[in-house]
Amino acid sequence: MGSIFAAIVGIILFVLFSPYFEREAPTTDLKGPIYWNFKTPLKLKISDNRALGKYKVEVEEKGRKTILAEGVAADGQKELNLTLTYPKNAFLPTSSDARITVEATDRSLWRFFSPNRLEAKVQVVCDITPPTASVISSSYGIAKGGSAAVVFEARDENLKSAVIRTAAGRIFKAQPFVKKGFYIALIAWELKDDNFAASVVATDLAGNETVVPIGFFQKRVVYKDTKLLLKDDFLNQKIVELSSSMQATPKTTPLDRFLFVNNTLRAENEKLIAKVTTRIGDNMVDGFFTQPFLPIANASVVGSFGDHRSYYMGNDVISESYHKGVDFASVKEATIYAPNNGVVIFNGANGIYGNMLILYHGLGLFTLYAHCSSFLVKEGDLVNKNQPIAKTGMSGLAFGDHLHYGVLIQGVEVRPLEWLDANWIKLNITKVIDEAKTQIASRK
Ligand SMILES: [Zn+2]
Repeated sequence: MGSIFAAIVGIILFVLFSPYFEREAPTTDLKGPIYWNFKTPLKLKISDNRALGKYKVEVEEKGRKTILAEGVAADGQKELNLTLTYPKNAFLPTSSDARITVEATDRSLWRFFSPNRLEAKVQVVCDITPPTASVISSSYGIAKGGSAAVVFEARDENLKSAVIRTAAGRIFKAQPFVKKGFYIALIAWELKDDNFAASVVATDLAGNETVVPIGFFQKRVVYKDTKLLLKDDFLNQKIVELSSSMQATPKTTPLDRFLFVNNTLRAENEKLIAKVTTRIGDNMVDGFFTQPFLPIANASVVGSFGDHRSYYMGNDVISESYHKGVDFASVKEATIYAPNNGVVIFNGANGIYGNMLILYHGLGLFTLYAHCSSFLVKEGDLVNKNQPIAKTGMSGLAFGDHLHYGVLIQGVEVRPLEWLDANWIKLNITKVIDEAKTQIASRK
């Protein structure tokens, strides 16, 4: 008797705890409503904690059915990643009754040797109409390394995003402008790209995409090549100081240290800058600054944007870099002023940039101040045009007291000269905005 009892207990325990008798049904990541153009492949996942059995995916509407996938999972397979295409001549749903159904079983023996079952139904909305998009106004030209403004219209019942995409593949986000359906973006021709082209790209939730090229006159700019001779006292002081985070050995030479600073550290520092300068607001705007972004008074330009710098040690070129700002020199520890209203989004040490401050001015536009000796504002502060924000200095990779001034659009360093020029702003920003507002006002 006792042994029969023990056997029964044993079977019960086996049924309760054995993986062959688990009770969890398969799951799917499919969540509704799904917007689909019935053209781009539909991805979905079916999984089970132990092993999948049969599966079937269908589109159904009022009794009509189209099978998208059907089969049996391989032995022991826990996950199915399906990429489904819709058959060419199958019906396209027209009503809100259309559903995608996912059925699947597992290989559990729990339910009297019948498996656990998944039956999911989600609404599918058929949308085969691409968004409409058009350019309302844009800057006439763009310079290599420079900026431009674009106002465009993009509409769709199920609009997902409306952005500017360059031929190089960079995406510039846009901000709502004046009225629903209109957007504005500041964009940039990156210094590293030889050519420039950009389009408005509007996509909807169903995967439809509309691409409208924006016409720009391309202004070629020839950037300078400058030679910098590295002197011993610079290598022995600044470079030793800046390379403190390097894994140095007794064999590390001043050249090794310089290469670490100019290559490894520079790349890290630029990555941080790109990271903090990518945001753009989603509030509706109806204008932008009309005054130049001048951060310092009575200073002379001692280094220009886009300079290709070759570093010499004796007669040998040992490294190179691109200078992505304008250098201004004035008196020692000169006051730096906020060039327009903004918010402080970064103040702190950043390697070769030394003590660095970054302001955000809206529309994805940022200004950057490097090599400062001190800060007069801190992260989070709202600053007004002409408010003192910092003092110049020579922290970081600087040969003497100066301000390294950078202007960025959504992470891309652009020619500060344009933003320092009242006439350039008038023709390329203010005029584009005013023309767009006139056009939009003339619509009903
Ligand atoms: Zn500089």
